[in-house]
Amino acid sequence: MTSEWDVRTRLVRADEADEEGAPLNTPLVLSTTFRAHPEGVGFSAVDMGEQSPFFYARWSTPTVRTLERRLADLEGGEDALCFASGMAAITGLLLHLLGPGTHLVISDICYAGTAEFVRGTLRRYGVDVTPVDTSDLEQVRAALRPNTRLVYLESPCNPVLKLTDIEAVATLAHGVGAQVAVDATLATPIGLQPLALGADFVLHSLTKYIGGHGDVLGGVVVGGRAELAALRQDSLIHLGAVLNPFPAWLLLRSLSTLPQRMAAHEATAREVAAFLEKHPRVHHVLYPGLDSHPQAALARRQLRNTSGMIAFQAEDAPAVARRLAERLKVVHYAVSLGKPHSLIFYLPTDELQRTSFQLSSELQARYRAWAGDGVFRLSIGLEAPADIIRDLEQALAP
Ligand SMILES: *Cc1c(COP(=O)(O)O)cnc(C)c1O
Repeated sequence: MTSEWDVRTRLVRADEADEEGAPLNTPLVLSTTFRAHPEGVGFSAVDMGEQSPFFYARWSTPTVRTLERRLADLEGGEDALCFASGMAAITGLLLHLLGPGTHLVISDICYAGTAEFVRGTLRRYGVDVTPVDTSDLEQVRAALRPNTRLVYLESPCNPVLKLTDIEAVATLAHGVGAQVAVDATLATPIGLQPLALGADFVLHSLTKYIGGHGDVLGGVVVGGRAELAALRQDSLIHLGAVLNPFPAWLLLRSLSTLPQRMAAHEATAREVAAFLEKHPRVHHVLYPGLDSHPQAALARRQLRNTSGMIAFQAEDAPAVARRLAERLKVVHYAVSLGKPHSLIFYLPTDELQRTSFQLSSELQARYRAWAGDGVFRLSIGLEAPADIIRDLEQALAP
């Protein structure tokens, strides 16, 4: 692929269609085994090199490899490694980098599955974990230690859309020899380029905007070539949560429309956020594209697309949640995000703290100052803005 081309061109122009008669679409290759030669690749993945031919599908397959190359290109990374889900990518990277005696600094607010895995499994395996508010650089600086191996964060974070200054955190972390991993699922590569800001790894749940159609699970880690080769062996081949070729093929198809979908999600989210901000029953609308976002300046500097996620609070939220679930016709009351359908879900603060986050009282107070007793998380889909707004208006009425 030619890097002089705009991202929209690169995502459409398949990189294997140069000879006459070649298919324009990436072929879907369904084969678990590939023809080998005794002098070629060895029986163990330990001997696998970068130029090794395809051998066995848990190691690598052609359709998935094409997707990995395209995702690496999109993030400006040397290489990418796909997994069966976002959680498989996250847990694979954390288990690879961390071990007994190492220290992890992680953002206090992140995807519930990540928070629960880190607090449970990683601590059980002897990893020292310090959750901090990564939007506060002083907290990050104070948490770093000589044995800090990794600073892990989400920006914007799920579910309350707080941002972290990735460039500043990377400078602090690298100062003590730690690496930085950013889960940029909510921003997508169209909105955020963490590697260019100094992060060492960027992760995505491909299930969300990149898949974009609500029909496929997947995950990816993008980073340096040598580090991802080690990750492939340690976490992909040995833990086995590989992405299968068919979901990879669906993801390749989805990628070709990602820039246009993100432009539409963002444009509609801006209209809906402006509507919500003026609604008398709604308060504290959090959207990185609004001037009222507490980190609007950082959003302008760091995000090239402010995505389709909005969080807001409402008076008597449990009753409002019930009304939304019963009355909404265009928007669906459901979890997840990044689909063609608009989705809304209420996340009460008490429940999140009890189950997923279990933060210290100081971090809990910070969460409550930002998110109150709970937020409605709204993922704006691809429907017409006016229909979404009318639907929310009738459902929010008393
Ligand atoms: C959904 C999500 C994940 C987990 O991804 P799966 O594909 O569901 O495993 C991780 N991080 C963020 C920010 C998410 O939104």
